[in-house]
Amino acid sequence: MNGTIFVCSDIVPVSCEPVKNGAVAASGGKITAVGGAEEIKKSFPDFTVRDLGRGVVAPGFINCHTHLELGWLKPEKKFKSFTSWLKHIIDGKSSGANTGKIERSVTDGIKSLIQSGVTTVGEISSYGNDADILKNSPLRTVLFREIMDNRPDTDTQTEPSERFEERLFAHAPYSCGPELIEKVFKISARGNIPTGIHLAESPEETAFVKGEKNGFEETIYPLIGKPPMKRHKAETPFQYLRAIESGGAKITGVHMAHIKKSEIKQIQKTGMGVVLCPRSNEFLGTGTAPVPEYAEMERIGLGTDGLSSNTTLNFFDEIKALYKLLLPLGENTAAEKAVRIATLGGAEALFMEDKIGSIETGKDSDLIFIECGETENPYLEIVKANKAEVL
Ligand SMILES: [Zn+2]
Repeated sequence: MNGTIFVCSDIVPVSCEPVKNGAVAASGGKITAVGGAEEIKKSFPDFTVRDLGRGVVAPGFINCHTHLELGWLKPEKKFKSFTSWLKHIIDGKSSGANTGKIERSVTDGIKSLIQSGVTTVGEISSYGNDADILKNSPLRTVLFREIMDNRPDTDTQTEPSERFEERLFAHAPYSCGPELIEKVFKISARGNIPTGIHLAESPEETAFVKGEKNGFEETIYPLIGKPPMKRHKAETPFQYLRAIESGGAKITGVHMAHIKKSEIKQIQKTGMGVVLCPRSNEFLGTGTAPVPEYAEMERIGLGTDGLSSNTTLNFFDEIKALYKLLLPLGENTAAEKAVRIATLGGAEALFMEDKIGSIETGKDSDLIFIECGETENPYLEIVKANKAEVL
């Protein structure tokens, strides 16, 4: 059997304690062993040894939520409300979209992600121009096809491959009527394919589900000629979603910022995945998720969102923002939780933890290397870094 042994000063498997002077053996795209360097070298004498020196080998990062196609809509400055941002996107899309711009955004975005250690991306596809580019890129891709009332086609469009799969994504409660959300969830449940939705992103969305005055009905619907939406009322976006029949679908909720602390346990009970996008929420001025409370849970991942609502697609910038929000837990715990959310938590949030997210025998060998000096706490070294090499 041929393979490679990556040797370095610190291995962070995430699923267990870090290993000093460790090694990871990989063959045929799978991890065959992880442990002390000498022991691994003895166990696999035919493998090629690559000594990386000082630094950390970690599982590749999982950027659970991007809109690579919307990179060309990057705004000049931050926003004060969700609806003012949405208006910017709608105006931009109607006046300036063209295939060249969209495809360039996707290609540039992929570059930024790989340079910052991302090996898996959860991409929301609005136009469909991202599918082939991602399928032919080094990134493992979950392509979420965005469904809305004005774009309700739920047929699968791109053939899956070893590193590419397509799922359906109900855009949001204000853009998909409850019947369409139910349809997306039930189709997904029948095929045993996970699905997702933007949920609890803004105060306007809470007002919308409560049936109160809101920016969607006052500004956005008249702008796009959308008729009023018939819907049930709920106290919060999460309760609104719970009232919709899902058929047992595995659902990933993206943003989940406007969640009551008392709802966090309920979310865990439902087995729902959660993707936090701290810099996007800050950029749009829509509020902050209860991050330290979420950190106690599994199935919590991290996403940069698109350049249409963020300043960079560098995943280390997102990890740093998350780390800051976790600091009430103390520096060391914050770093460890941030790294977990960026890797294994993301795999769980996308329902892919059997395959990726940690360095464990049998999982796919999506590995990254972060060069650094002395490593007292390898989790902190990951948080402090700015670039990584995908191995
Ligand atoms: Zn999004």
